Amino acid sequence: MDELILVKYGEIILKGLNRPLFEEKLIKNIKNVIKDLGKIKVTKAQATIYVEPLNDDVSITKVIERLKKVSGIVSISRVAKMEKDLDEINNKCVEYLRPVLDQIKTFKVETKRADKKFPLKSPEISREVGGYILSQFNHLVVDVHNPDIVVNVEVRDTFAYVYTEKIAGIGGMPIGTNGKAALLLSGGIDSPVAGWMIAKRGVELEAVHFFSAPYTSERAKDKVIELAKIMASYCGRIKLHIVPFTDIQLDIHEKCPEDQMTLIMRRFMMKIAERIAVKSGCNALITGESLGQVASQTIQSLGVTNAAVDLPVFRPLIGMDKDEIVTIARKIDTFETSILPYEDCCTVFVPKHPKTKPVLDKIVESETHLDVETMVDKAVNDTEVIEITAEK
Ligand code: ATP
Ligand code: MG
Repeated sequence: MDELILVKYGEIILKGLNRPLFEEKLIKNIKNVIKDLGKIKVTKAQATIYVEPLNDDVSITKVIERLKKVSGIVSISRVAKMEKDLDEINNKCVEYLRPVLDQIKTFKVETKRADKKFPLKSPEISREVGGYILSQFNHLVVDVHNPDIVVNVEVRDTFAYVYTEKIAGIGGMPIGTNGKAALLLSGGIDSPVAGWMIAKRGVELEAVHFFSAPYTSERAKDKVIELAKIMASYCGRIKLHIVPFTDIQLDIHEKCPEDQMTLIMRRFMMKIAERIAVKSGCNALITGESLGQVASQTIQSLGVTNAAVDLPVFRPLIGMDKDEIVTIARKIDTFETSILPYEDCCTVFVPKHPKTKPVLDKIVESETHLDVETMVDKAVNDTEVIEITAEK
């Protein structure tokens, strides 16, 4: 095949000992997401990963769609491959790029010469190729400042490559290079975005969902499963822990002051999530909290929530406005599912006047009316675990 995909990854994070780990993981993750798309070779050389179909059945478009969801990738280009010979390069540019060149008016050529033994230097190659393209297409002119397209030529170790498009990847680091964390996943807009942001930094996810049957329906659970599936298309396989939460809520409702209900509930969520996290080898918790968004997300409330656990709590949305969060939710395709109108366990027992400036001592005092350890143990023991994989 003389058409393939070149994948580029960030270089700044590649200094030192991290590099081989980063590259191996990225290759493994790439192989994993495309394994059902046919026979495809994935190799690396000179800070580039080559994704090369081995037969005609492979849809390059589909491969690219999958690669757009793999973290650690900075750009993706569909390219033609040729011998490292100026005539070959000229001919290939004209033949392979004809459909594009027919449609545009201005272009420039940019060359990267990774093979320093190639007889022409980069600017010379660009000049030669540009001249040849001009000689073949009367309607084209060169515009070095603001061209309609850039014809990229790369002269590498074994072959040369040409392409016009660099598709942006999601950046970040390959999943699995930065440990594992447990995401508190509700059915709302925020928590999937929070999970995605941390996963993008190379972190593997476990998800924990608190479920309040019969106050919340099976459909609410299906919605969370659907969200986890969408997330799995970026994060790889996710274990979703579904924690029965109703008994705890009823207990708190009965024995604690109404205006402390939400916060005590949130502290239970954190404690249970922490237990599940530790059991699953996670080193942090992730929530979708954003400063000031609701009463339980004031500075004081977040402090009281944090005090329930020892693990670090990552809140990647803490400084973001709702519209910024929604923009990401749309980009990662969770938004439409998140806004389906099914009830959440927190909405069932919301107090009319929740505390916005809670004091930790008072909350801890209220919790002495509960058998916290036994309640947490029971919830963890009764947790159902579902293996979630991405829908293809
Ligand atoms: P979201 O849009 O993520 O539901 P939210 O703005 O509705 O967030 P809260 O309901 O206060 O905010 O929840 C704050 C965070 O607590 C959520 O982002 C999520 O991480 C966690 N959380 C809330 N409810 C649940 C639940 N039922 N199961 C798991 N985690 C939850
Ligand atoms: Mg919510």
